[in-house]
Amino acid sequence: TYYLSQIEAHNAKLNAFLEVYAAEALGKAALIDVKIQSGTAGELAGLVIGIKDLLCYEDHHSYAGSNILDSFKSTFSATAVQRLLDQDAIVIGRQNCDEFGMGSTNENSAFGPALNFKNTAHVAGGSSGGSAVSIQANMCHISLGTDTGGSIRMPAAFCGVAGLKPTYGRVSRWGLIAYASSFDTIGPMARHVEDLALILKFISGADGQDSTVVSVSEFAVKKPSNGKRIAYIKEMAEHPSLQADIKKAFFERLDQLKKKGYEVIAVDFPYVEALLPTYYILTTAEASSNLSRFDGVKFGHRTSFATKDLLEMYKKTRDEAFGEEVKRRIMLGTFVLSADYYDAYYTKAQKVRRLIKEFTQSLLQENDFLVSPTTSSTAYRLGEKTLDPLQMYLGDLFTVQANVAGLPAISIPMGEDAQSLPMGFQIMADVFQEEAMLDLATELV
Ligand code: GLN
Repeated sequence: TYYLSQIEAHNAKLNAFLEVYAAEALGKAALIDVKIQSGTAGELAGLVIGIKDLLCYEDHHSYAGSNILDSFKSTFSATAVQRLLDQDAIVIGRQNCDEFGMGSTNENSAFGPALNFKNTAHVAGGSSGGSAVSIQANMCHISLGTDTGGSIRMPAAFCGVAGLKPTYGRVSRWGLIAYASSFDTIGPMARHVEDLALILKFISGADGQDSTVVSVSEFAVKKPSNGKRIAYIKEMAEHPSLQADIKKAFFERLDQLKKKGYEVIAVDFPYVEALLPTYYILTTAEASSNLSRFDGVKFGHRTSFATKDLLEMYKKTRDEAFGEEVKRRIMLGTFVLSADYYDAYYTKAQKVRRLIKEFTQSLLQENDFLVSPTTSSTAYRLGEKTLDPLQMYLGDLFTVQANVAGLPAISIPMGEDAQSLPMGFQIMADVFQEEAMLDLATELV
């Protein structure tokens, strides 16, 4: 009831939840109370979670922040959601996000942006904006978000909460409405790092429905050398786009780490300029293919026009229901996959992805962690970036590397800037090194 009262008090303004399952949640809580008394309750009994609108929950709506999934209800729950339900967690509602996870501010949601609780003239970040604000305004204990290029970490940084993007292949993507399948991950957001660790434990591990996930026993054989070598990429820490307050706070954290006995090393990364082009070429390509299933036949919205044939029905439906950014990405993706340009863009980006991955992993062979600010600035004002998609994409500079390379990364709060807006500190680690990464994060908060 505490969380429901917080939602009641703030959601109309913040627009973090798109739908709240109040009566259902209370009913479940009563049943779980009985289980607790009889000693049969799961390990997460009564834990209140919110889920991003991209995750399926049996018999509930999932709209992916889009009009195209209008009235769609899922017949099954995402594996990550199901595993929390199996431990008697309670889903309190579904949370606002950018349409299909495409965006960095939540302003691409068909249902309007989620607003930053710290200052409602500013965005929450995206695409898991509603999930971050829900934690920021105490509307639930844990949020489940998704991260394709920073969508958990960026809003976590903008809202001053913690967010974890797991290694690609650690958490099943079954029941996650796909944006870019080889980048998409599901992860938790919370106020405390310990809670991220707890949730990760339950949602991790093999699942017959997603063959890219490995079993828990295969995780983390390699332990970091001595866990004490921390590297940062010079080209990022000195990047011209970096806000002065963030840079200062970041170097203060590095000093703190040195005092605690860590070795802090500046390294070069020759592919900083290639990160965003590689990410946006490959994700738009994958998105154009994934989003072809929304055709007015299988799910959600269908045009009410009396169209003359099937093709016109597809076109009209998609034209009516997809937002501007989704259309832009479908077109970009279709272009980079077209016969004439495939080699020049798609194949080349795949090769560069390999180089980025190998180089990043080589840095993580020599060092235990790679750290950076999570974002180059604090939360933008509403509307500040919406007219210029390239400016919007540039905001993802520090977060996409983990997705391009498939590595785990976490954003934790790093104080506030001069305008009292939250800043984030990012830690990245080698594959399946979440535990070591979470331990370091715990030391820093
Ligand atoms: N802002 C990035 C994009 O629009 C990241 C999105 C995400 O991680 N889902 O692609």
